[in-house]
Amino acid sequence: MTVNLLDFDQLKLAEFFAGLGEKPFRAKQLMRWMHHFGVSDFGQMTDVAKSLREKLAQIAVIQPPMVKLEQISEDGTRKWLIDVGEGNGVETVFIPEDDRGTLCISSQVGCALECTFCSTGRQGFNRNLTVSEIIGQLWLANKALGRDPRGERIISNVVMMGMGEPLANFDRVVTALNIMLDDSAYGLSRRRVTVSTSGLVPAMDRLREECPVALAISLHAPNDILRDEIVPINKKYPLAELMAACRRYLEKAPRDFVTFEYVMLSGINDTPSHARQLIELVHDVPCKFNLIPFNPFPNSGYMTSEPENIRRFRGILSEAGYIVTTRKTRGEDIDAACGQLAGKVRDKTKRQAKYMMELRV
Ligand code: SAH
Ligand code: SF4
Repeated sequence: MTVNLLDFDQLKLAEFFAGLGEKPFRAKQLMRWMHHFGVSDFGQMTDVAKSLREKLAQIAVIQPPMVKLEQISEDGTRKWLIDVGEGNGVETVFIPEDDRGTLCISSQVGCALECTFCSTGRQGFNRNLTVSEIIGQLWLANKALGRDPRGERIISNVVMMGMGEPLANFDRVVTALNIMLDDSAYGLSRRRVTVSTSGLVPAMDRLREECPVALAISLHAPNDILRDEIVPINKKYPLAELMAACRRYLEKAPRDFVTFEYVMLSGINDTPSHARQLIELVHDVPCKFNLIPFNPFPNSGYMTSEPENIRRFRGILSEAGYIVTTRKTRGEDIDAACGQLAGKVRDKTKRQAKYMMELRV
C-alpha cells in the first residue's frame, strides 16, 4: 500500500524512515523538499541517495488534494474549492492585506455543531479531513502564490477558520499545525497560526499542552440563554466553563490574550445591553474582540446588524478599554467571507433535510 508523505509531520516521518532502516535526518530532508520547496517528485530530490528515491517512488507518494476551482476577487482575495472525493468539496481562502497574507484553512467536510448562523453548520457533517488534506491546502496555496520579490512567502499567517470545527478533528489538526510550525517545513511562529473554536473545552486544554498556538473563540453571545440557542455546543460547555478554559489556555499561549469573535446579528445579540453583559462576562480574561458583520446566505433567517448598531456596540467595548476590530468583509464577489464557505457536502447526518422541513412549516 502506498503512503502519502503529506500525512506525516517530522516525527512521524522519522518513524517511517526508521521502519525502512534509514537515519532520522532523512525526515528533515524530506520535509524541506516537500514543504519548503513544494516538490512532489522524488526524482528532484538531488541530495537524497538515488536508491532511496527509487524505493520511495515505489512505496510512497506526495499527493496534495485536487483543486476543482480557483476564484480571484476584485480585492485580491482568492478562493480554492478543494476536491475531497465522493462529490464533496471544502474551501480555502487567501486574504491579502498590507502587512500580511492570511490563509484560512478548512478542517472538516461540513460541521456537526449546528451554529444557527453558519452556512457550514447548516449543511451537516460528512467527515474529518485527513492531515494531507489540511496541510495540502497550505501546500497548494503556497504553490499558487509563491514568494514576493524579497523571497518571503506571501502567506505569513494561517487561521483555522474555514469549514469545520478544528478541535473536533484534534489529532489531525495538531499534526498539520506541527508541520506549519516546523522550521524545515513552513516555519510559521505560534503567534501567526490561529485556531478558532466554538468552545470545545476539553480539547482546548489538550491544545494548550500539545500545541499552544494563538486562540480565537467564537463567542457570539454574552449569556448562556442566547448562546445555547445560537451556538448549541454551549449546552455542553457553558460560558463559565469556557471562560475558565480561556484563562487556563493563556498560561501557555503565545499571545497574552485570546480573541473573541462575535458575529453581529441584527436584533439578536447587538444591543447596548448585550455589550455591557459581554464586558461583565469577560472581565477576568485578557482579550481582544473581533466583531464580524453577519454574512448572509440563502434562508439563514438572520440579518446583518445596522452599521450604526455595530459602531455603538464597538464604542461600548472600546470605552471599557478593550481593543476591538470590526472585520471587513473580503471577497464578497466570490462568496469567500466567514460563514459563507459552503463547498459541497453530502450530509451524513441528514441535517439539510431537517432544515428544509423546518423552513416549510
Ligand atoms: N468552527 C470554528 C471555525 C470556523 S468558523 C469556529 O466556529 O470558531 C470561523 C468564524 O466565522 C467563527 O467565528 C464563526 O462563528 C464565524 N461565522 C460563521 N458563520 C458566519 C456568518 N454567516 N457570518 C459571519 N461569521 C460567521
Ligand atoms: Fe461549526 Fe464553526 Fe460553523 Fe459553528 S461556526 S457550525 S462550530 S464551523
